Amino acid sequence: MTMLLPSVDEATAIEAREVSAWFGERKVLDRVSLHMPPSSVTALIGPSGCGKSTFLRILNRMHELVPGATLAGEVLLAGDDIYAPSWKLTDARRRIGMVFQKPNPFPAMSIYDNVTAGLKLTGTKVKAADRDDLVAGCLTKAGLWKEVRDRLRQPGGALSGGQQQRLCIARALAVRPQVLLMDEPCSALDPTSTRRIEETIEELSGEVTIVIVTHNMQQAARVSARCAFFLAEEGAPGVIVEAGPTRVVFDQPEDSRTADYVHGRF
Ligand code: ADP
Ligand code: MG
Repeated sequence: MTMLLPSVDEATAIEAREVSAWFGERKVLDRVSLHMPPSSVTALIGPSGCGKSTFLRILNRMHELVPGATLAGEVLLAGDDIYAPSWKLTDARRRIGMVFQKPNPFPAMSIYDNVTAGLKLTGTKVKAADRDDLVAGCLTKAGLWKEVRDRLRQPGGALSGGQQQRLCIARALAVRPQVLLMDEPCSALDPTSTRRIEETIEELSGEVTIVIVTHNMQQAARVSARCAFFLAEEGAPGVIVEAGPTRVVFDQPEDSRTADYVHGRF
């Protein structure tokens, strides 16, 4: 595995150290370590079932909500262990946002209220007078403002699939997370919506650390600076075979299994 050099500015870096995960007796991740530098985009790639979604859920403490799920290892955000007793679940939710494969806005809630929904849930205080600006700012960052500025009171469920996903991105941004996790955010979308989300990812990458799971190798190559290839071999838990700069992982991988995967040979 390629060694990652420590970054100088650790302010928003997120790092997994020797993370293992189980569902009941079954081990699905084995000692996965990955450093995701601040303000970077890291793509997690690999075949279905190798533990990418599980890994992402461990990065924001969603894994522990699954009955029977356990884990070992550490997750550090800006050097702090998010599993330390001093960390509450709401701290993790506020500092580490998540966007899922299937857009999941609150369908009956207005577009405006969807964006602010996370504030209450995470106890993030925003003055009433600043709320309109926050909503406009988050919708702008998510590339949705121009399309919805005149209909902020309409329900989130009335938007198209791609717009709903951008609304979910705006909702995640409203609590000002340091990290944004995205689990196959474009898999349910058409090519045009996919392109818009990729543009949004590019624009956000300067201010938030992004970790994106994708099955689309062109997408990984387009949006990510770094890349980690996960693999679970027959009956074995998932591991990271190789991680490093995306160009290296794609063009000069150290492991032949990485080359086979990125070139579509399995
Ligand atoms: P990926 O996202 O790479 O497709 P997942 O993290 O979803 O992989 O799954 C990793 C392994 O864990 C798979 O074998 C899957 O069947 C298993 N798994 C995922 N979620 C659960 C769950 N809630 N209960 C039991 N097993 C699960
Ligand atoms: Mg998955």
